[in-house]
Amino acid sequence: MTADSLRTSSLDSTLGIYVSVPFCRAKCSFCNFASGVSSSATIESYVTRLCAEIDSAAATAESLNAKLPRAVDTVYFGGGTPSLLEPAQLRRIFRALYKNFEIASDAEITLEAAPGQIADAVLAEAQLLGVNRISLGVQSFVDRETAAVGRSHTERECIREIVRLQSAGVADVGADLIAGLPYQTTASWQHSLEVATSIGLKHLSIYMLEIDEDSRLGREVMAGGLRFHANGVAADDSSAEFYETACEWLPRHGFPQYEISNFAAIPHQSRHNRKYWLRAPYFGFGLDAHSMLLRENGAVRFANPDEHSQYGAGGSPLVLIDISEREAFEETIFLGLRMNEGICRSQLRRNFPGEFVVPTEDAARELIRDGLMIERDDRWQLTLRGRLISNDVFTNLLLGVAV
Ligand code: SF4
Repeated sequence: MTADSLRTSSLDSTLGIYVSVPFCRAKCSFCNFASGVSSSATIESYVTRLCAEIDSAAATAESLNAKLPRAVDTVYFGGGTPSLLEPAQLRRIFRALYKNFEIASDAEITLEAAPGQIADAVLAEAQLLGVNRISLGVQSFVDRETAAVGRSHTERECIREIVRLQSAGVADVGADLIAGLPYQTTASWQHSLEVATSIGLKHLSIYMLEIDEDSRLGREVMAGGLRFHANGVAADDSSAEFYETACEWLPRHGFPQYEISNFAAIPHQSRHNRKYWLRAPYFGFGLDAHSMLLRENGAVRFANPDEHSQYGAGGSPLVLIDISEREAFEETIFLGLRMNEGICRSQLRRNFPGEFVVPTEDAARELIRDGLMIERDDRWQLTLRGRLISNDVFTNLLLGVAV
């Protein structure tokens, strides 16, 4: 399966839906998402606003002069911890989705969950409603590391949870791991990788810990402080090293890498996330949710507010970007190159003007010479070294494209 083989008209005529559920039982110290701990009354009122937003999707698309496919083949509940919703709340959201869209019988429907935070009743309801994929925020199978960042689960509980979900018949159970957590060592990282590949998981996502001002841990590390176990955070080089180990080790143990952060055999790759990388239309509902819809000529991106007080308060989405041809070209490059299969040069030439493609080809030649990219079968792909500094590669690649 290649990007091109997926780039069929069905990719443009079906929609992916993202539902943001920004609530968690506790805030992890490294988290920079718009999520937090809220009362059950807040969650209930949020679900009401979410359903209203889903009901007004067609009107929103029309006001943006964008096409809204009714056919949906992927739905992704992200967060936050969507598994904390009550069964009745999940039902309400699904009812709104089924009322406004035609969800394919073989749609990929994913629910993010935290280990130990998916009640029996929620799991049963989710499966009844069509959820066939659960992504667990494990982060590490080493108790000291998860405890340091404020996660309450242990390795034992994670394994028990994974077995429970598999026994309940969830077709695809996957997990996220983070490289660079406090106290992580080469040996402890290897332990997490070994456990992750030995318990029947179908999909793994590997993220490098982000040190930035949007998380409590990131701020503390930047300030050189000791709170949140900041003094236990490995040096930058270590997380890159851990990431490289994962890129080399996972494919040899049943998890081929198919994107910068994602590893799975073809049948278990995230169909929903592929839509983002292939620039297919998707609609995000809820706090801080982002969307991209196609227009007759081009596309439009828009996003909801990331503050509860502003979300659902009426009016248009907070951020609205009309995508120019140049931006479409840039997106095609940096989203397509995230995937291991990369991007097709001939297709770039066919779809975009020479003034964009020619300088990019010049830059690509240099990046190939520097060992950051390769060209194979008319496709550009990042090397492992290129993946480690992907943002720099994208910047260099697009440097010569006139603004
Ligand atoms: S569970 Fe996920 S979304 Fe919630 S605080 Fe932790 S990392 Fe952030």
